Amino acid sequence: MVNLSTDCPQFDNDIAEVVRLFLDAEKLEAPREPMLDGDVFVSARLFKENHTWAAEAVCACAEAGERRGFSYRYESPLRGESALEQKRYQKRCVKIAVFRAMRLAFPEAFLPWGSLTGIRPTRLLHELKESLGAEEARRMMLESFDVSGEKLALAAEILSVQNEMPRLSSEKETGVYIGIPYCKTRCLYCSFPSEVRHAKTDMAAYLAALKRDIAFGARLLRETGRKVRSMYMGGGTPTVLTADELDGLLSFTLSAYGGYGLEFTVEAGRPDTIDREKLSVLKRSGVTRISINPQSMNDATLALIGRSHSAHEVERAFYEAREAGFSAINMDVIAGLPGESLGDFQNTLDAVERLNPENLTVHTLAIKRSSLLKDRLSLYPLASAEEADHMVDAGRALARRLSMRPYYMYRQKYMRGNLENVGYAKPLTECVYNVDMMEETASILSHGANAMTKRVFQGESRVERIPAPKDIKTYLDKLDALCEAKERLFFEERWPRLTSRP
Ligand code: SF4
Repeated sequence: MVNLSTDCPQFDNDIAEVVRLFLDAEKLEAPREPMLDGDVFVSARLFKENHTWAAEAVCACAEAGERRGFSYRYESPLRGESALEQKRYQKRCVKIAVFRAMRLAFPEAFLPWGSLTGIRPTRLLHELKESLGAEEARRMMLESFDVSGEKLALAAEILSVQNEMPRLSSEKETGVYIGIPYCKTRCLYCSFPSEVRHAKTDMAAYLAALKRDIAFGARLLRETGRKVRSMYMGGGTPTVLTADELDGLLSFTLSAYGGYGLEFTVEAGRPDTIDREKLSVLKRSGVTRISINPQSMNDATLALIGRSHSAHEVERAFYEAREAGFSAINMDVIAGLPGESLGDFQNTLDAVERLNPENLTVHTLAIKRSSLLKDRLSLYPLASAEEADHMVDAGRALARRLSMRPYYMYRQKYMRGNLENVGYAKPLTECVYNVDMMEETASILSHGANAMTKRVFQGESRVERIPAPKDIKTYLDKLDALCEAKERLFFEERWPRLTSRP
């Protein structure tokens, strides 16, 4: 049992995230006395000293009737002027103190991202550089947050590639997202609320609602003087739609919005949903980039993770996409899939290398609470944190051999080894939407169930979000309220304050 006691309950969730870097503890309990064997007790105290924030943390472990305790005190080098800054420095202070005390107690933990638990380390590095300068930002990442030199170099390279990408010419440039929350089968590790499409699925009802949502969004975009920066159709698996359904949806969307801006990506995703007819519809409609995602090129793994296709089908779909004229193809792979060794992962990478796509996304397996995998963990051998890190390194080595550079990155909770997902691309094939979405550099107007609309207020460090209902039936029922919420968000000048959310 892991017990937590703090005098700063406003940061309990942040502290819990740090504790989970070291321990597999879903819930942190109130302290109990006496401590029993296997118990871990964590405490944190925050205070102000000489006008700066400081924190003291203790981590105590009970083993074989004995208690071992470790403590760490951290003083923030930054003072902070505004209330927001003060809160940020307080939080950092507590997290760093808890991280260091826990690292003393568990020195064998492999944590190359140090105490960072956020999903956007590149954004943190960018903000530190802007406010403190490059050298001080580097020093903080290494010495305050305990990020490894290798991960810092990765984040820095990503920022430099992003610098070369098309910049926003105005706050009005907006990404457009269309979500198809259906798949052919459910993957073992999936945590998305997507549904399996079956004979009784009322796809017509979903597509009708989606088109209404798109028509409303396109009008909103026009009336607010915005323009489309990029377009992205994701899911789920959009190619679970028939060729006719895809054709109808793409032509409706493009005619409503009047174009796709810099690029248009469709996640073709599963090769067992891709055929020549659908590829030709995508190409004819103007789609500029597609994803064909093997995840693994080992048939035994594909069967185990519930994907109803073989490695051979991935190759077939890839060659058909090339024949259809696609010159920007992304492939997703996952490091640390159940039962896979470094050798198995290398086999996947070798097969991807032979195909030579323009983009490669290397994910690290995340064991999400809502996945089937979470319930069946004891059945599958999983790679250790170090093994997962070697896989991620092998993915990076392949990207370099294919002349790709890392251009975006994000982290998720419950990832193997607390690692990262990285998108690589050959120069000039980077996906602008991915960067805008992950780094929150541009507003995104989204359509469909479980799709997130965001308005980025440039220069204010402010992002407002409207999440669409995850469940398809609720999305259909609440579409009007959802559209109204989006109107309020993008017409904030007209509506005094965002007050209602669906
Ligand atoms: S293809 Fe993606 S969205 Fe669909 S079940 Fe698999 S992981 Fe989930």
